[in-house]
Amino acid sequence: MLAVFRSAQLISEYRNYINGRFVESPNTFEDLNPANGELVARVHEADAALVDQAVRAGRAALPAWRNTSAEQRAQYLERIAAVIERRADDFLAAEVADTGKPVSVASRVDIPRGAANFRAFAAMIRMSGGEVYETPTPEGRALNYSLRQPLGVVGIISPWNLPLLLFTWKVAPALACGNVIVAKPSEETPGTATLLAEVMDEVGLPEGVFNLVHGFGPGSAGAAIVDHPDVDGITFTGESKTGATIMRNVADKVRPVSFELGGKNAALVFADADFDKAVAGVARSSFLNTGQVCLCTERVYVERPIFDRFVAALAEQARALRPGDPLDPETTLGPLISRQHRDKVLSYYALAREEGATVVTGGGVPALGGKLDQGCYVEPTIWTGLDQSARCLQEEVFGPVCHVMPFDTEEQAIALANDSRYGLASAIWTTHLDRGHRLAARIDAGLVWLNTWFLRDLRTPFGGMKLSGLGREGGRHSLDFYSELKNVCVQMSQ
Ligand code: NAD
Repeated sequence: MLAVFRSAQLISEYRNYINGRFVESPNTFEDLNPANGELVARVHEADAALVDQAVRAGRAALPAWRNTSAEQRAQYLERIAAVIERRADDFLAAEVADTGKPVSVASRVDIPRGAANFRAFAAMIRMSGGEVYETPTPEGRALNYSLRQPLGVVGIISPWNLPLLLFTWKVAPALACGNVIVAKPSEETPGTATLLAEVMDEVGLPEGVFNLVHGFGPGSAGAAIVDHPDVDGITFTGESKTGATIMRNVADKVRPVSFELGGKNAALVFADADFDKAVAGVARSSFLNTGQVCLCTERVYVERPIFDRFVAALAEQARALRPGDPLDPETTLGPLISRQHRDKVLSYYALAREEGATVVTGGGVPALGGKLDQGCYVEPTIWTGLDQSARCLQEEVFGPVCHVMPFDTEEQAIALANDSRYGLASAIWTTHLDRGHRLAARIDAGLVWLNTWFLRDLRTPFGGMKLSGLGREGGRHSLDFYSELKNVCVQMSQ
């Protein structure tokens, strides 16, 4: 662990990466470790002028890059994956310092997925083909075929909760399809994106193909990407209200957007479920990454005969979590991302009491001692007793908290699950497979898990309904978003 910590100490400045060079700016902001409040790095904030430089660099690099073959781009992606794997300790150190997530989680989930995203899209771009149709015509026949061509300059804006995983989830397919990129990671977590720029440099990606800018949203680099007239498409992951703002801001330009937004995800647990698996699965889905995964469960509906036993067993799992130093391999619960976010989560803890919740466990701030008391920790929390209309059951908290409510019938369960403005992910726990499939078809969510949670095959569609997003990424859906499909129709001679 010491090696990991030491390498985090090496990085003290995060610069922008434009046209193959690391670029400073006069304005810097602080990147803090949410586990102890310590300074991780000074970050160089890009203003509109630097974003414009990045877009111009991309535009200049586009003709040559789009002309490379899919095979050449796949090989770049594989080299990028290999360097991430070789530098896994550096990535781990930067991710843990920025997010406070336990090394046990980041080393298993975030960093391997960062590399896997590049490998997956290398394989997919090699396999991708277009459509071909033969069409009868009065003269004989025509041949229609489609060309997959890049969108152009793609703006990527990503959040802080799974920084490397979500950033590379967009960078990899965008590059695979022959696009050039201007990307902004969250201001809370600029570290691994900066390391990724070093990787791009090392593998010799042509100058201007991948550009990285740091900064905030409104009045800063995020808004400058969205507002830039020469950005051809925007892919964004973050809060629903930010997605709505971006949509308004690109409306006049009529550019493609892909949005992966918030959730208020439901789990349905039936009395015939494998009880222990369901308890462990719901606990994991509520508390993984301190509840800061867009797919996390915040609403649990449990069939009445097992309700009391389920709540007691879930509370036991919550109490067994070990908040602590993220670098300690025994730690299973890290801090929230920032003081501001902790204030938000604690305001929901207070609101739940006002709205009449019973706090089964948690609801406060753990005393951890030493530097960790400067960290942004909260207790994993379980509520019962709220009305379905309560704000705590309708609004995304994005913390380690869930509410458990009993239901009596399948119809009631589905009505409760669908009573939400969001529609991202759901989990159904039952051994009655007919019922599982029946409910999976009726639930308003882009992703449904049956007797599992967070199991992903990167070829499958990923995205949300309602306020949870627009469009799908994953597999060919990513390739479709990052491409313009052009149809060519040829009249064939007899
Ligand atoms: P956020 O919307 O506050 O910020 C996300 C990114 O957008 C950041 O890089 C930020 O700087 C930038 N930004 C903010 N305002 C902007 C603007 N007006 N114009 C351009 N850029 C702007 O979200 P967050 O707090 O970083 O992330 C948490 C949210 O993300 C949660 O709601 C969570 O559910 C959601 N999320 C969704 C998915 C998914 O796949 N559906 C995945 C992860 C997180």
